Amino acid sequence: MSDATSSSIDRVPCTVPSCGRGIGAAAWRRRFGDLDLETAEYVCQQHWSQTPSAMRKVYARARRRDRRLGMHMESTGRIWRRIMTEMRSQARTAHEHPQRETTT
Ligand SMILES: [Zn+2]
Repeated sequence: MSDATSSSIDRVPCTVPSCGRGIGAAAWRRRFGDLDLETAEYVCQQHWSQTPSAMRKVYARARRRDRRLGMHMESTGRIWRRIMTEMRSQARTAHEHPQRETTT
């Protein structure tokens, strides 16, 4: 809606708390349009590739529909947030099988 108020944020972190990656605000706008920080949630490429493909397909279809209509449907945001929740719960589950972290 308004660009002026979101200028203080320049980066949206990956939704997986242990990740540490993120996306720049400019790149976010290119991908998703306006940056609404109330609902802005991002998952990095690496964690996106771990998202169940059924979810990715549903989301891709919703985004295609958005583009065709030239507007952002609320249901698309809902699908996105469901994926984010799923990724966070997967990250928690992963902690039950601790692995030695290797630095990249
Ligand atoms: Zn990540």
